[in-house]
Amino acid sequence: MSVTENSAATVALPVVRPGGVPGGLEAREVSAWFGEHKVLEQVSLDMPAGQVTSLIGPSGCGKSTFLRILNRMHELIPGAALAGEVLLDGADVYAPDRRLTDARRRIGMVFQKPNPFPAMSVYDNVTAGLKLTGVRVSRSERDRLVEECLTKAGLWNEVRDRLRQPGGALSGGQQQRLCIARSLAVRPQVLLMDEPCSALDPTSTRRIEETIRELVSEVTIVIVTHNMQQAARVSDRCAFFLASPGVPGGIVEYGPTPAMFGSPQDPRTADYVHGRF
Ligand code: ADP
Ligand code: MG
Repeated sequence: MSVTENSAATVALPVVRPGGVPGGLEAREVSAWFGEHKVLEQVSLDMPAGQVTSLIGPSGCGKSTFLRILNRMHELIPGAALAGEVLLDGADVYAPDRRLTDARRRIGMVFQKPNPFPAMSVYDNVTAGLKLTGVRVSRSERDRLVEECLTKAGLWNEVRDRLRQPGGALSGGQQQRLCIARSLAVRPQVLLMDEPCSALDPTSTRRIEETIRELVSEVTIVIVTHNMQQAARVSDRCAFFLASPGVPGGIVEYGPTPAMFGSPQDPRTADYVHGRF
């Protein structure tokens, strides 16, 4: 690991949303394939800093693929290919001189199924990403960071006396909030969430929704959800994805959430948001 990268990461750590207009993500004409199968066609989407953008649409229209392209997970899948650009604050996420770990640190991901390291302690789960992305922190800084991230994820009060217990001992909703805390520990500018509440009960779901609204002042959020009430509650903007047999996924309509639900312009959006699909 180069000295330059270590120092850059250490400098970045205490700074929340560094830069002028931090954490704005933009996809430009993104297409994706699995082998011969084209699954996304020329998708362009602005995901502004400080806002929650929801990706909605039926299963199989490429929402998860699109999320994985945003933080460079797509390229890890054998046979997967892509075209187009992803820009974070105007800088190409796929630039040849940009390290994969840098993209992952700045653009975190939370999955549908909570996936903490089950045997690892709650504390170590939160700090796990620091090592993986090459961020160095002193011990006292680490203690402070663990408390801060668990607080932001709405979990501190529940686990402050359980920090040495295994992550797998927490409830499903707590595990998902632990995963959010783990993502936050590396100070991402963007948090991608792929149906983060699908595996959770309604109470845990509401807790996560509250957390999302609290986090968005410092982390740009892109969330995939099948729950239209959730999209309406948490997001500032929505993008409606659709694919059909022989036609790769693309965005049908995109706009502020109240307009997408209140006055959709495309009849297919109207049908989808009103549950007629
Ligand atoms: P969504 O998240 O909207 O349900 P996905 O992005 O998971 O959609 O899938 C989009 C399309 O890509 C689907 O046709 C799916 O079968 C295909 N697909 C997804 N992942 C893979 C993969 N690892 N290998 C091959 N095809 C895939
Ligand atoms: Mg999906």
